[in-house]
Amino acid sequence: MDPKPDTCHKTRYANETEANKDVERIKKTSTRSNVPIRSYFCSVCSNWHLTSKESYVVTTLKAVSKELQQAKTEIKRLVAENKRQQDRNLQDIRKDEEVIALQQTLLKKNKMIKGLINDNSDLISKNIALRKNHKNSENQQHKG
Ligand SMILES: [Zn+2]
Repeated sequence: MDPKPDTCHKTRYANETEANKDVERIKKTSTRSNVPIRSYFCSVCSNWHLTSKESYVVTTLKAVSKELQQAKTEIKRLVAENKRQQDRNLQDIRKDEEVIALQQTLLKKNKMIKGLINDNSDLISKNIALRKNHKNSENQQHKG
């Protein structure tokens, strides 16, 4: 009475409950590595069969879960990279601050040097003036 007897060679179950019972029984008793994990309705023979393949939903969920895990790993990597970049930026800022501090010290030293050069010029001028006065007083003493 089967309309398409050659299309389905798998064991047929009249309903889902019967099929699932057998899935559990085989899972517990079979020593094979490839055992059925679920039942499915066959539109060809209108019965239920067993399969070791995961359903489309489970396969898709696993794929999505894997993608999520990869995305998490990528996010972790980006966060770590961002942290490293921030550290580098902070180091650059610290170096810039050191350079600014050194430039300010240099400006102060330059001012000091300018002051010392001016002081030296004043002292030279005073020294010249003192020598002139001294010579003048010596000349006057000779005359007198
Ligand atoms: Zn079938």
